[in-house]
Amino acid sequence: MRGDDTVARMGGDEFTVILTNLENQLSTERIAQNILDKLSEPFHLGAEVVYITTSIGISVYPIDGDDVDVLLKNADQAMYTAKEQGRNRYHYFTSSMQDAALIRMHLSNDLRGAVTGSQFRLYYQPIVQLNTGNIYKAEALIRWQHPVRGLVSPLEFIPIAEDTGLIVEIGDWVFKEAVSQVIKWRHNEPNFQISVNRSPVQFRSNYKQNMHWIDHMLALDLPGNSICIEITEGLLLDARDAVISQLDSYSKAGIELSIDDFGTGYSSLAYLRKFSIDYVKIDKSFISNIHRGSSDMVLCEAIIVMAHKLGKKVVAEGIETQEQLDLLIAAGCDFGQGYLFSKPVIAGEFEKLVWGNASA
Ligand code: C2E
Ligand code: CA
Ligand code: CA
Repeated sequence: MRGDDTVARMGGDEFTVILTNLENQLSTERIAQNILDKLSEPFHLGAEVVYITTSIGISVYPIDGDDVDVLLKNADQAMYTAKEQGRNRYHYFTSSMQDAALIRMHLSNDLRGAVTGSQFRLYYQPIVQLNTGNIYKAEALIRWQHPVRGLVSPLEFIPIAEDTGLIVEIGDWVFKEAVSQVIKWRHNEPNFQISVNRSPVQFRSNYKQNMHWIDHMLALDLPGNSICIEITEGLLLDARDAVISQLDSYSKAGIELSIDDFGTGYSSLAYLRKFSIDYVKIDKSFISNIHRGSSDMVLCEAIIVMAHKLGKKVVAEGIETQEQLDLLIAAGCDFGQGYLFSKPVIAGEFEKLVWGNASA
């Protein structure tokens, strides 16, 4: 339990745990699983070894009730379901939550096999230089071709991969794949650059393990600026020394850094100054709402001016209409990405899109 959680004994062998400040359902499940794991370890009582099983019922405020009595009653009912289903498990009160938890559990098991079973694909979305229309950048976006479920969105499996730590392995695969692709595309366009997303978990896991991204590029004689790493603001907010030194080593190696989803978090100018960030990516939620004079338009203009003053370039994400494009060009935005230009596509289609048949 964390410092701000509460554990109470209700009587007999029943306990209540109150969890606050939860990021998402996944954290609830992680904690429930932790409790199950810890309590399933053998207890040594004198000369005896004792095993116990645990059944957990979960109710969630406010969906499952907005007062203590109802929440407790519903958690209790969910606990009985957990017992009925064979104990040593957790169960949600609301069945849709339980269904979602089960899907996540299965996906998390399948994810292990996906890494070794080559079930991932890397798609590429062009990043267009707005004042010329030229394309010499792309963002690499992962797809999971699940043998039964078909294409699974990264929005669904990346959080699970982060939670299980598998993101490190998956992220390394993405990076290596992007590197071999950028080597090819640099034959067509010498300045070509591919952006890869890097989760905060990848920064926090084993520091040494992360270093080989640079070694890998050095070994292939690939200049640093052929890769851009997209990070989120959250990473900078609680940046520890290990994170800062990784970011430093990336920019020393010439690898460029981009802040993803800018505008959704703290949008702090201080961080842009403190770290050597090259690009700011304005989140697509702003772009989808821009019209002449709208408040999101004003915000975009402000971000662009501010970024330029600090010597950073700006990428607008999620451009879907000509109107959005025109407004962004007028505001002096440097690069754009979105369905108006192209959806993320496989490498072969990307080549057709950008270089026609010349490179095929
Ligand atoms: P993101 O980094 O913000 O990526 C942009 C997302 O916006 C992509 O979703 C892209 O397909 C989508 N998009 C692009 N243009 C448009 C548009 O015009 N309109 C709309 N509505 N959407 C657009 P996708 O590919 O589903 O990826 C979702 C998220 O999953 C990414 O968000 C990123 O956070 C994560 N992700 C994807 N690939 C990786 C990866 O290799 N590693 C890590 N750590 N995360 C990844
Ligand atoms: Ca991104
Ligand atoms: Ca983004």
